[in-house]
Amino acid sequence: MALKAGATIGILGGGQLARMMCMAAARLGYKTLILDPDSQAPAAQVANGHVVATYDDEAKLEAFAHACSVATYEFENVPVSAARIIDAITPVRPGFRALEAAQDRCVEKMFLNGAGIATAPFAAVDSDDDLRAALKAFSGNGVLKTRRLGYDGKGQKVLRQPAFESLNGTFASFGSVPLILEGLVPFEREVSIIAARSLDGRVAIYETAENVHREGILHTSTVPALVSDGTRDAAGKAAVAILDALDYVGVIGVEFFVLPDGTLFANEIAPRVHNSGHWTEAACAISQFEQHIRAVSGLPLGDPKRHSNCVMENLIGDDISRIAQLCAQTDVIVHHYGKEEVRAGRKMGHFTRLFPLS
Ligand code: AMP
Repeated sequence: MALKAGATIGILGGGQLARMMCMAAARLGYKTLILDPDSQAPAAQVANGHVVATYDDEAKLEAFAHACSVATYEFENVPVSAARIIDAITPVRPGFRALEAAQDRCVEKMFLNGAGIATAPFAAVDSDDDLRAALKAFSGNGVLKTRRLGYDGKGQKVLRQPAFESLNGTFASFGSVPLILEGLVPFEREVSIIAARSLDGRVAIYETAENVHREGILHTSTVPALVSDGTRDAAGKAAVAILDALDYVGVIGVEFFVLPDGTLFANEIAPRVHNSGHWTEAACAISQFEQHIRAVSGLPLGDPKRHSNCVMENLIGDDISRIAQLCAQTDVIVHHYGKEEVRAGRKMGHFTRLFPLS
């Protein structure tokens, strides 16, 4: 049964992703309540309510849960303990399995491999000796990352044939937290796919996007990606396998490396709406945000087909001053996140430029 109009959807996190979900929810007649420790959270400007609380404040999590008919989240690092407190009162969608699979890079890769999806080779690293052994196994090259809490390229280092003695102290320099070494993938391009699964197990898959990163942050997503039909289909099949394995409800983003022969290695899953899916708001009748709200509230999914090709570009830091100039252009859809403080490296907005379908 779908939620009735006027019901409240709770969202853990109050950033731009929550903000865009709130706006989509309002169009479908739902109210939204966000929970975020920051009283200035961007989503607070458009949500019906804001619980200002940390994710370990049991009393506030419970009050939040009592005020919602369903709860969801905008980021995968919501503590599983917080999701469990809420779920005892009101359903959390997608569930904990998705959170658990996405929070630790080793668990994530084991889950993906178990679902039949290839990834870069990897090894857990808990000491400098582990690092040396893993590097040896990967012919001297790899990407060292924190297993948890990394985003936008933070908490990682590319290693290319380092002298083994120069690695002394590397584990400590990462804060002595659990690490992963991944083989350095000689990818030709990076792509991602946004897909959704409804309460009754139906899926909707958007077109594959090709992503370019700058300094670890997504710069552009171009749709469609320049890949063969076989590669595109493989990305879609992988997304469906992940959704089914997690008995998932909602939108998911899956990032892949494309090797020169078209083979895919999954890099990351994001159990939420994703930056590389922002283009759907401009180039599809039903955006990833509306699709997610439809899924978690039990409504039928919308058709994910696009009416245009497009390029989405993030506006980072001072780029946001381009807004007026972009607004003057035809076929450009602009999105400002309402953040008051401009900071270098901060995602302030994005725009999508539409092109005719080719
Ligand atoms: P991540 O935080 O895992 O999304 O990594 C950020 C970016 O670093 C990716 O989008 C790639 O451009 C690059 N990268 C991450 N892991 C690898 C890898 N194993 N091999 C090559 N490049 C990588």
